[in-house]
Formats: sequence, C-alpha cells, structure tokens
Amino acid sequence: MTESTYRIQGATGEWEVVIGLEVHAQVTSQAKLFSGAATAFGAEPNTQVSLIDAAMPGMLPVPNRECIRQAVRTGMAIDAQINRWSRFDRKNYFYADLPQGYQISQLYHPLVGEGAIEISLDEKDPEGSVKSIGVERIHVEQDAGKLMHDQHPTRSYVDLNRSGVALMEIVSRPDMRSPAEAGAYLRKLRAILRYVGSCDGNMEEGSMRADVNVSVRKVGDELGTRTETKNVNSVRFVMAAIEYEAKRQVSVLEDGGRIVQETRLFNVESGTTRSMRSKEDAHDYRYFPDPDLLPLELDEAFLEECRASLPELPDAKRKRYEGLGISAYAANVLTAEVEAARWFDALLETGAKPVPAANWVTSELFGALNRTGKGIENSPVSVDQAAELLALVADGTLSGSLAKQVFEVMLETGDGAARIVEERGLKQTSDTGAIEAVIAGVLEKNPNQLAQYRGGKEALFGFFVGQTMKAMGGKANPAVVNDLLKKALG
Ligand code: ADP
Ligand code: MG
Repeated sequence: MTESTYRIQGATGEWEVVIGLEVHAQVTSQAKLFSGAATAFGAEPNTQVSLIDAAMPGMLPVPNRECIRQAVRTGMAIDAQINRWSRFDRKNYFYADLPQGYQISQLYHPLVGEGAIEISLDEKDPEGSVKSIGVERIHVEQDAGKLMHDQHPTRSYVDLNRSGVALMEIVSRPDMRSPAEAGAYLRKLRAILRYVGSCDGNMEEGSMRADVNVSVRKVGDELGTRTETKNVNSVRFVMAAIEYEAKRQVSVLEDGGRIVQETRLFNVESGTTRSMRSKEDAHDYRYFPDPDLLPLELDEAFLEECRASLPELPDAKRKRYEGLGISAYAANVLTAEVEAARWFDALLETGAKPVPAANWVTSELFGALNRTGKGIENSPVSVDQAAELLALVADGTLSGSLAKQVFEVMLETGDGAARIVEERGLKQTSDTGAIEAVIAGVLEKNPNQLAQYRGGKEALFGFFVGQTMKAMGGKANPAVVNDLLKKALG
C-alpha cells in the first residue's frame, strides 16, 4: 500500500484530500457510436456529420458494435464486471452544440461495473508500493459538438464533427489521496487504454479529459462535500487543479465557511479554479430509457472474442520482464508506454539478451530519443540495428564504451554497427601481445605511481587501467587489460 503522506496543514490541524476522477475517453473507432460518420481528428468543420448526428427528424440510432467491443475490452483490462445486459438512457438538456436535445448515455445500467486500477508511486519498487484504486463503472455515451466563438465578432458557429462520437466515461471511486496518486492513476489508465487500443489517450487532442472531484476532511472524518472541476485535459493540470482546490477548501473551512457542492472550471493560465454553477442550479436531466434503442445483450461468443483479443497488459508485461532478470525500475520504464514495450518485445524476439538489452534501451536509446525529442516510434535506430549492436557487445567485439561510440556514429550516419566497426576499426582487441606492450610503456612513463602502487597504494590500479585504455584508444578488452595489468604490477 502506498502510504499517503499528502497533508495540508491548517491552523486547526492536518487535512487530508479525497479525490475521485471521471475520465471521458474517446473510443477508437472509424465510425461514431450510432452512425457511420467518420471520427478523424482535425477534419474541416461539419464534414463528418451524418443525418443522425445532426438529429434530423425520423433518423434512428444504430449501435456501433466496435464501440461496444472496445468498451467491453477496456472493462476486461481493469478486471471489471461486464454487464451482459445494459441499456441506453437519454440525458435531456438544451444546448447549441447538442442537436438532439439529449445525450444518449447510460445511467441506470452501465455496460461495465466494478473494477480496479493498480497504481504505484515508487518506480523503483512498483510491486511493493501498489495501491488499488476502485473503478465504479464504465458507461458508453455520445460526445456533443463544439461551439466556436472566435470566428466572427458577433456570431458563434457550431462544428458537429464530434457530435455522436463514442466516449467511455470511466468513473473512479474516491480512493485517491494526493495529486501524485491522481497523476499516477491517469497515467496508468492512459497506458491501459493505449495497450488495449480502445482510446489513443491523446490528451492534447481531447481524446481524454477528466472531471476532477475533490473534497477535504480531517484524517479519520467522514467524506467532506466535494466540488467537481470539469474537463481538465492534461495530467499536469489535473494535479494542479487538485492542489489548488484542496488548499482553497481548507482555507474556506478554516475560516469557518462551508464548501458548497458545485461545478468549477480550471484556468490553465493561473492554475486556479473558479465556480461555474452550484448544485442548486444543476439541471434536472430527466433521464429515461431511450425508446429508439433496444437493451444491449452480450452473448458468450462476443465476450470470448473480446477476452481473447486482449494484449499482454502493462503490469503483466512488467512482471514478465522482471522475471527475465530486468530491474524493477527498467521494467517499469519499458512498460509505461505501449510503443516502447512493443519495441522492446521486438528486440527480445531477435534473441537479444534481456538484461543488457534493457539497460541499453533505457539508458542509451532513451537518452538519444530525449536529446532529439523523438518518440520511439520514430527511433533513428531500428530494432534490427539495435540487435546487431547488442550482438557485437555480447560476442566481445565491442566493449561498453566502444558500443557507445559506435551508437553515436549509427545515429549520425544511419549505418549498421558491424559496418561502422569495420570501417572505423573500432573493434575491441584482446591481443595480449599488443596490450602487454602498451602496459610496459605505461609503467615506464609513470614511475612515481608505480612506486606508490608497489608501496601499497592499491587504489592506483584504476589509474593504470585508465592509462592503458587511453593509450589503446579505448579499444582494449577491459577484462584482458585487468588481467595483464595485475600480472605486470605483480
Ligand atoms: P454524481 O452521480 O453526482 O456524479 P458520483 O457519486 O457518481 O456523483 O461521484 C462522481 C465522482 O465523484 C466519482 O468519481 C466519485 O469517486 C467522486 N466523489 C464522490 N464523493 C466524493 C467526495 N466526497 N470527495 C471526492 N470525490 C468524490
Ligand atoms: Mg457524475
């Protein structure tokens, strides 16, 4: 269990923050939830709108099997109960971006019930610091259109491209106790969605947005009244909104005030939240079952197909890597993003040894990607090229430091490791005669150090190793150098 140490100190004592997240995740699907219109991001306004999405009279919604399938697979990935019988409800409200006058959602009988997501705040010891965050439900619903107020001085326009796009609403239990836990939950949820392939997790493009519910209480007290900050679209902003909101609530309560249940908005520039509407002005959505849609009934074959199509998920993959001898830290880093994990799996498939491969990927390759601002999907070095380099290290052709040099050249030229070794003569040498000759020269040039070493200052051994390696341009096999130096120094 992660010991939560996040506390806010007030004049009257220590406060604890309680957080629950409602995440809207856009379902990866070519077509919308109830129509065949396309869902591609960035299309010209109103070019992906069917008569259903525009709510033309007489149009009937037809559920998109793929969207249901993706939500079911997501539920299975978080070990949730899948409800074989669920139903769509209408959530009625009036707004210019909602042509139907209602959103088709699921209130009473969601597709997915109780599940959980495991998070960890200690990347060196993910296993030992696991905390399970409850997920109350996942339901499927339609997105609304988008109003554009910045196109004309006195008019607003509406873009219905998003209208009817399928969303999963993933509702957590109020189980998080710090901004860091909320950040870890969102990152883990995003990773799971991307492994499953049910949402691209692209928060900048709005594919994932969170409603952030926050309350505070004295440790051990009942749950306090919460506020809900709407539509926060990055992990960093979610954490900032919680931080701000928790402190604000504490200061209100410490001043003898009370928290009103309300909806708030996060201001990205100032990092603050402000009130949008209170619970008293909340809509009565007049939910009722959508008469245009039959209840959803899932059969065993469908569920079986969903289950069978699930990939290895982040935690399972991390454990498998650890089982190969890879450190918990590296296994965690390698599995955090699905692209990296796929890349590493492909590297293992070439026969690369897991531990050196993991070390090389997490230090050398990730270092190079960071420097160039590239993702692994655009890696300048292919899996096969990496495998070739690692094989040259494994068979003793390259030492660690030569491998670094060769990798630099690979990055510059795009050439293969073997070719670079050949052309630049970067091969490591184990030629004892040549190394012995260099050692003799090093000892001759450093009589003082030699005398000190023989007089008992054994720490100087490293000095001689360094001098020898330097004299050999870094190309001597370090193990052979060590052996021969030990002999020469007596
Ligand atoms: P509603 O139906 O009004 O949206 P829910 O009970 O479904 O309310 O809760 C919505 C979200 O608020 C959930 O993510 C839940 O975990 C969270 N939540 C509920 N109570 C609290 C609380 N006291 N403090 C923080 N979050 C809360
Ligand atoms: Mg809610």
